[in-house]
Amino acid sequence: MSGFVEKPEPVEVPGLVHLHTGKVRDLYRNEKGDLVMVASDRMSAFDWVLPTEIPEKGKILTQLSLWWFDQFIDLVPNHVLSTEVPEGAPADWAGRTLVCRSLRMLPVECVARGYLTGSGLAEYRESRTVCGIALPEGLVDGSELPSPIFTPATKAEVGEHDENVPYEEVARRVGAETAAQLRQATLAVYNRGRDIARDRGIILADTKFEFGCAVAEGGSDGEELILADEVLTPDSSRFWPADQWQPGRAQPSFDKQFVRDWLTSPASGWDRHGEQPPPPLPEEIVERTRAKYAEAYERLTGTRWS
Ligand code: ATP
Ligand code: MG
Repeated sequence: MSGFVEKPEPVEVPGLVHLHTGKVRDLYRNEKGDLVMVASDRMSAFDWVLPTEIPEKGKILTQLSLWWFDQFIDLVPNHVLSTEVPEGAPADWAGRTLVCRSLRMLPVECVARGYLTGSGLAEYRESRTVCGIALPEGLVDGSELPSPIFTPATKAEVGEHDENVPYEEVARRVGAETAAQLRQATLAVYNRGRDIARDRGIILADTKFEFGCAVAEGGSDGEELILADEVLTPDSSRFWPADQWQPGRAQPSFDKQFVRDWLTSPASGWDRHGEQPPPPLPEEIVERTRAKYAEAYERLTGTRWS
């Protein structure tokens, strides 16, 4: 079982058309045809969107993404147009709203990995490869890879797992030239992000980017790849505290650890493999998780979260 414990109703704002309720973001189109992305405080774990929100999480993710977009501005253009809250929208949208170019999204989750874990580790244990890329013997959970690799996946519906695919499959879907550009841009942004995070005591183990193309007048797509969605947030990335990194075991994750630990503890009374949705989180877990998100923001950007 998986999905939303309670799927929220979209907010009605004059002039905005609701397009989609994602796990975390609500998408609207404004009268100019731009995309209005509003990051909620929803949190997912074990394939569920939990019934309890983490206050400010959506604002922290939005502000962190904006900060990262700026760090990469010389590497790749991004989709952000403004942070203006549309007239008539709830006051709470301030800080969590991005007005973006509405792009034709490429059907590839562009994952970069510098360390081995998760679905990469699972494939490695089967075949000593990740997305068909051969890796040296002897790597364990959390090992650093000889060099970062592009390990694309195809997007799944809510509750399904994204599927890792070989590079050739990406080339088949989007064309050889675009595939090569995606790989190049993904690794370039990852490498810079990893270096910045490392300086701040955080290992950026892996991350996922989404790219799109501008849809030109007349319907043909622009050549240029544009970095979209969110970038290098704790939701799209694995951040590990560098001082606790120890290959050979699961690494403490920066953000979701308290939630995962509590949900799998007897205290929650929840069976993650059963039929029931997860229960509400206790106040203490909510607060500690909120503090972790804020700490990630503060450590990475070097500015206070206020
Ligand atoms: P997850 O990210 O966890 O897979 P989700 O796909 O439901 O879940 P959300 O982050 O909640 O995603 O919603 C964001 C949605 O907006 C995604 O489907 C993403 O592909 C899409 N998107 C992001 N930027 C743009 C853009 N500039 N133009 C069009 N669609 C975009
Ligand atoms: Mg998303």
